[in-house]
Amino acid sequence: MAAALVVGVACTCEKVVTATSEPEESKLRSTVGGALADVNIGTNEAKKLKNITKSSIITLRLAAGENLIGVLRRYDVNTQQVMTLIREVQPWLDLNKLTTGKAIQLTLNQRGSLIAFSIGVRFATILTATLEDGDWQVRESTLESELVDEHIRINVGRSLYNSALDTGVAVDVIQRAIAVLSHRVDFQRSLQDTDVFEVFYQSTQLIDTHPLSKKSEVDKVNFIKLTVSGVPHPLYRYRATGESQHRFYYADGRPVQSFLLKTPLNGARLSSTFGRRKHPILGYSRLHKGLDFGAAIGTPIFSAGDGKVLKANWGGSFGNRIVIRHANGYQSLYAHLQGFATGIKAGNEVRQGEVIGYLGSTGLSQAPHLHFEVHKDGRAINPLTLKTHRYTARKLAGAKLEDFSKTVARIDAQLEHSYAKRNEPSQLVFNQTLKEHQH
Ligand SMILES: [Zn+2]
Repeated sequence: MAAALVVGVACTCEKVVTATSEPEESKLRSTVGGALADVNIGTNEAKKLKNITKSSIITLRLAAGENLIGVLRRYDVNTQQVMTLIREVQPWLDLNKLTTGKAIQLTLNQRGSLIAFSIGVRFATILTATLEDGDWQVRESTLESELVDEHIRINVGRSLYNSALDTGVAVDVIQRAIAVLSHRVDFQRSLQDTDVFEVFYQSTQLIDTHPLSKKSEVDKVNFIKLTVSGVPHPLYRYRATGESQHRFYYADGRPVQSFLLKTPLNGARLSSTFGRRKHPILGYSRLHKGLDFGAAIGTPIFSAGDGKVLKANWGGSFGNRIVIRHANGYQSLYAHLQGFATGIKAGNEVRQGEVIGYLGSTGLSQAPHLHFEVHKDGRAINPLTLKTHRYTARKLAGAKLEDFSKTVARIDAQLEHSYAKRNEPSQLVFNQTLKEHQH
């Protein structure tokens, strides 16, 4: 096989006619490696295609070290045309910087020459560039999607993270839930197999899967409940008037989130603490201004608190580093990262628990680890002794509490509805998908 891996080939000789009879142009349907593939290339393009007796769509993933020019030249696109394509698509996506494994779709005529190029630019959004008389016509289309409520309840088992992942909980949801719960639960020590984790969240899901877009995107986590040794911790998402962020509260209006997380990642081991020590690479003794957490390369790193990104770039011995400014004169720093999460750049707002980057070993670093610092008014402080309860949001009262109680009642009713719909004998494990009716 050539360098690119073909993951799906579908023949469209007859199907294109079906596509023209569809009233809406924005519909895209395809099955990977299957028989059916309706392509949305618009009525005009579809009419053109009808004249071609046989065309096919292939889905490729870029192999390591491979670039778009190399791939497209195999389908009779010359270098000049590829350069033009890159320029035309630039407002959406930099085709020079496609990552290994990124899926693209090529529509070929019966001679095997390229007539259209498609790529996913974000969730449920596909860009298609069609070659017409040597020029590219670029068009954005949206895949059909729907809002879906997910209600999942599982036993913690050996690892909450892995059990939730096995049950099909979106990674984003698990990470967000753990970030919230970590204010109240010590995940390294206090959990037992029989403890129960429950989560209720809303996501946008594609009606039909498509190889160029992920299947779903999480919108919001509305409810998290962890029952530890029989003691339930039910938490409700709510945004009080005057607050810029949603927070999680107990049903009586007590907030759960503290100002800054002390551990901005999961499953890590504290490998070096704050204080004076001999530097492993430089060899002389100096103040270690932060905490080191050892974990696997690629482990997601969370923002310790709500704030604004000041830096997300190369920082010399820090390697790839992020600096975030929080309220009350606090800043946090995350060093030696492998890379930055999408959308993390200077000036952007981040929420507590949001994934900002991935653990690495860049800069002056001996082994994969996160170097984490917290500064107060420009001076490094020990994150472990951080007393931030003064800055924790206050308990809801008065009109805010009354309004919050309505949110609690609404979420409780949705949960009741979900429990009632479930007919499985086991009360402990279920995975219920509910279509949401009230909007
Ligand atoms: Zn360090």
